[in-house]
Amino acid sequence: MQTELADFIRNTPDGAEADEILRKCVHCGFCTATCPTYQLLGDELDGPRGRIYLIKQLLETGEASAKTQLHLDRCLTCGACETTCPSGVRFVRLLDIGREVVERKVPRQGRGALARYVLKNFVTQASWFGPALRAGRLFKPLLPGALRAKVTPARGAGARPPARHRRRMVVLEGCVQPAMSPNINAAAARVFDRIGISLVAAPRAGCCGAMRFHLGDAEGAREEARRNIDAWWPLLEGEGEALVMTASGCGVQVREYAHLLQHDARYAAKAARVSLLTRDVGEALAAEAERLLPLLEEARARHGERRIAYHAPCTLQHRQRIRGVPERLLAAAGYELTPVADAHLCCGSAGTYSLLQPRLATRLRDNKLAALCAGGPQGIASANIGCITHLQSGTQIPVRHWIELIDERIN
Ligand code: SF4
Ligand code: SF4
Repeated sequence: MQTELADFIRNTPDGAEADEILRKCVHCGFCTATCPTYQLLGDELDGPRGRIYLIKQLLETGEASAKTQLHLDRCLTCGACETTCPSGVRFVRLLDIGREVVERKVPRQGRGALARYVLKNFVTQASWFGPALRAGRLFKPLLPGALRAKVTPARGAGARPPARHRRRMVVLEGCVQPAMSPNINAAAARVFDRIGISLVAAPRAGCCGAMRFHLGDAEGAREEARRNIDAWWPLLEGEGEALVMTASGCGVQVREYAHLLQHDARYAAKAARVSLLTRDVGEALAAEAERLLPLLEEARARHGERRIAYHAPCTLQHRQRIRGVPERLLAAAGYELTPVADAHLCCGSAGTYSLLQPRLATRLRDNKLAALCAGGPQGIASANIGCITHLQSGTQIPVRHWIELIDERIN
């Protein structure tokens, strides 16, 4: 694709990157077929190729309208188009650049502006989110529908083992997950403990920055990345072998720190190291198969089979290109995985998407639940707190993180 970027962006790092991405696209449209929003809306501008044209126009003219903003807002950043693209177009990165420009050029008004402000400034603060969730549980019937669906019942976490092993890995606690589902990280700590690794957290680490980044606030996301790097660094310089992510959405963002801070003289090298050490929880466990698999096989013999459906989050299968890992571990532990059609499609959670685009998110969720339930599972497993909460809001079948199911079998 030929490009002629406008002066305001041509000689900037973002301009150079966008130009390189745009030039790779050959307009073939293969990506359109696997795009969830195109499938729902049937409008070229709600598919990757149409959005690429919109971003090209934006960067060539410097002009954006509310219509440009609408079609970019409707993107889930799921990355299904990147998986499909034969030319290696990094669509999501291009979208992030486009969104940041649109954010500056088209001011948001009214409820949309307020919702984004609250999401960026409060939801990402664990100290605010925990009490707000508890209050939300008390007043749940009074909340608006989209918000009510996100208010999960209180769940216990069980005991966390003490940090007793010489081998250690650092775990990101996250911002919303400790309040919504504290058992996920506790279960991960128990599973790692069984294979001789202690998971330790850095108390001063917080939100990974994904929420701010995808709401067009790249500088705010960089600040959150710097704070986390400062919190993790002493542990990673010491015994911490790796940085473990139990939410695949956070994993994508922390892997991006290297890119996000590449022009920051103080943090670039540390950010590159942090991204290099980042592992999804499944990836980290699969690397310890020698000690884990005997435990899973023993559990399988003890418990027998249980039918579950697995939903692979887009942030795991498309954005991190990690495929089949939780499924293999679940199968080894005696879970029979039921077939799920169109497993490449997003469930509609997509970070803040289910709150900002509730109608589309609900349609995607209902389609996904129909596919997940088709094989008659007794439970649903996934790998990201956003997907888990979103799916649970539409079904009575329990939706859990897969690490909790492994924990139940071996502990
Ligand atoms: S990231 Fe997902 S929703 Fe966005 S254009 Fe690509 S496939 Fe469509
Ligand atoms: S599949 Fe790739 S090259 Fe083809 S239109 Fe989509 S982004 Fe462009």
